[in-house]
Amino acid sequence: MNYSFWEKYFIESPADITIIGAGIVGLSTAISIKESRPDLDVKIIERSCSPNGASTKNAGFSCFGSVSELLDDIDQNGESACMEIVRMRWHGLKKLTARVTPLHLEYQLAGGTELFDKNNNVVQEHYADQISYLNQLMDDHLGIQTCYSIQPNKMLNAFHDKCIFNSHEGIINPVSMMNQLYRIAVHAGIHILFGHNITEIDTKNHILTTANQLKINYKHLIVCTNGFTQRLLPDLDVYPARNQVLITKPLKDNPLHSGYHFDKGYIYFRQYQGRILLGGGRNMDIAGETTDTFGHTAIIQDYLTDILDRIYPGASGQIECWWSGIMGVGPSKRPVTDWIDDYTLTGVRLGGMGVAIGSYLGDQLAEKIVQKL
Ligand SMILES: Cc1cc2nc3c(=O)[nH]c(=O)nc-3n(C[C@H](O)[C@H](O)[C@H](O)COP(=O)(O)OP(=O)(O)OC[C@H]3O[C@@H](n4cnc5c(N)ncnc54)[C@H](O)[C@@H]3O)c2cc1C
Repeated sequence: MNYSFWEKYFIESPADITIIGAGIVGLSTAISIKESRPDLDVKIIERSCSPNGASTKNAGFSCFGSVSELLDDIDQNGESACMEIVRMRWHGLKKLTARVTPLHLEYQLAGGTELFDKNNNVVQEHYADQISYLNQLMDDHLGIQTCYSIQPNKMLNAFHDKCIFNSHEGIINPVSMMNQLYRIAVHAGIHILFGHNITEIDTKNHILTTANQLKINYKHLIVCTNGFTQRLLPDLDVYPARNQVLITKPLKDNPLHSGYHFDKGYIYFRQYQGRILLGGGRNMDIAGETTDTFGHTAIIQDYLTDILDRIYPGASGQIECWWSGIMGVGPSKRPVTDWIDDYTLTGVRLGGMGVAIGSYLGDQLAEKIVQKL
């Protein structure tokens, strides 16, 4: 790249706050900072020509937890830790829908359905038995009454004939969401610099080195690189988790009407304009999917196409496109919002529900950094 003096000067000069990563967290954080302190100069540095991690590649579920996922989480981390995360997701969704209109999100409050193995009554009954306990938790923590209910599953014969329905969940178009956040950010005066891959953070001298050898100075820094964080901050407990996704062409009499989760959320599918979007299955090859490289593997593709044909026989012959996205995961579902030093904050490890948590986290990070100034 042949930079003029003007370009180099603009790119390398320190803003009041510099953010690495223009995903939902980077954009939401920048917008929240400007909402509370319009006088601050905020710059986002993004490596690609558009956001290139998970925020524009996800499935677009605006969800906050299926019964099996939450019970698993309670088992592993305890009730209060689990509900703290659920609260973040719930408030994040409220914030997102307040910031971006439902029309711009292509939001549909279609509900979320958790499906179970056709022949496994024991598993289905185990989760069904816990519904009143979880409904009480949702009422106590979120003020939602009768969040989950058991419903007959009449349409999807490959699964158990009873499912669990959550009427408070919805679906969105993630690119419409990100386009709107981008517009809000630009309108607020935030500078978004695309095409600058940060290869090193020099926390001593407050300098970011880019792949094309620019030296970007910063005063305060927020790292919002989620699944790619290990490349910059290898000591953080955040690991990449690739997710492969497919979408079919529009299908006649598509039986889907909401968002669906199966196998503790490892499998998810929904409809979009008559198509079936289906993704996940990384539990089939955890080692292979622990990567921040986009791509596909036969093991996951075969697994997903098999499930697709169970949902809609013959649909595997109607696949329109495949893609993948990279999430950031770790030992806990709690995002890492720690200070690396007095000037560097992180906002990473969003897991599989960043659409929900992203806006909440943006508010939290903005509050933390503005207090420091
Ligand atoms: C396939 C898939 C399906 C999903 N489905 C859902 C869903 O239905 N509902 C839901 O709530 N969540 C879902 N998620 C999770 C959700 O998408 C993420 O949690 C969320 O988008 C994370 O946002 P982020 O801003 O933290 O990260 P990202 O969106 O990954 O943004 C990080 C940004 O940082 C940039 N970056 C990285 N390294 C550098 C660097 N060195 N220099 C400069 N820039 C850099 C990247 O290019 C990227 O744009 C899904 C994720 C995937 C992968």
